[in-house]
Amino acid sequence: MAIIKPVNEANIVVQDLKGFAKDSTIQVQMLRLDAIHPIISGNKWYKLKYNIEEAFRQEAKGILTFGGAYSNHLIATAAAAYYAGLAATGVVRGIYSLNQLNPVLQQCTDYGMQLHFVSREEYNLKEDANFQQSLLQLFPDYLLIPEGGANEAGRKGAGEITDFIPSDVSHVLVSVGSATTFIGLRNALPSGQELLGFAPMKGGVYLKAEVEQHLLPQKNIHWHLIDEYDFGGFGKITQELTDFMSEFKQQYGFDLDRVYTAKMMKGLQHKLKEGYFPQGSKILCIHSGGLTGN
Ligand SMILES: *Cc1c(COP(=O)(O)O)cnc(C)c1O
Repeated sequence: MAIIKPVNEANIVVQDLKGFAKDSTIQVQMLRLDAIHPIISGNKWYKLKYNIEEAFRQEAKGILTFGGAYSNHLIATAAAAYYAGLAATGVVRGIYSLNQLNPVLQQCTDYGMQLHFVSREEYNLKEDANFQQSLLQLFPDYLLIPEGGANEAGRKGAGEITDFIPSDVSHVLVSVGSATTFIGLRNALPSGQELLGFAPMKGGVYLKAEVEQHLLPQKNIHWHLIDEYDFGGFGKITQELTDFMSEFKQQYGFDLDRVYTAKMMKGLQHKLKEGYFPQGSKILCIHSGGLTGN
């Protein structure tokens, strides 16, 4: 059965970022995936679409997934499940009071998601089969989706983002969290296009092993993870980054999100200065959304 798309892909444009590279032979563009939906934005829809299809195929009662208290994946899942007519449970890292929820968790419950709070210690068991079984006993016949949509269905859907990437692009840039989007892109992009993943957390190159585990052998080429631009760590922000975000908005007319894409674009600015990109490069940056987090 075909699921009804809650997002509007007709809104996706490739936008020129004139002047972003001082070298006028280098073109910088942004793929505006953030424009598909205000909540199920950017890469999140692509990671969810085949998971939702799978839930229908299994005639699941609902979806159960995992996230932190500010998770873009959690809120996107809540909205996507709502539009699909499926129940949803969010297993949240940390114990919060239902009558004092932050705006992200509040919106999850507004979309009908049931929140299941667990301690940080328990949350660390999110990939443990016994822990998962105990959750599925509480929510029988739910489909379990790993944190960040990090499964085969998620990677497959993320690969479809390449449908919007012009073939003459030399470098594709994307932010990485779980690296699900990165892996899906690398496996679907022509091997000649270089894929750069910007990690917004400290020591993000630990994701290398995860990436290598899932890459098709013939696509294990022309990819790099860059973790020099964490600005203090995941979810942290500095004055330099806030200033950059407002200058960017002023110049190009749209927002970057503070957790992922702002750090990527600031990193790109630095890499351009360093001369990382050869003359004539055509750089496409993916705006992966996440603006609800701002
Ligand atoms: C979730 C998210 C990412 C990370 O995606 P992964 O597939 O987990 O690597 C990047 N950017 C934004 C804006 C996100 O919300």
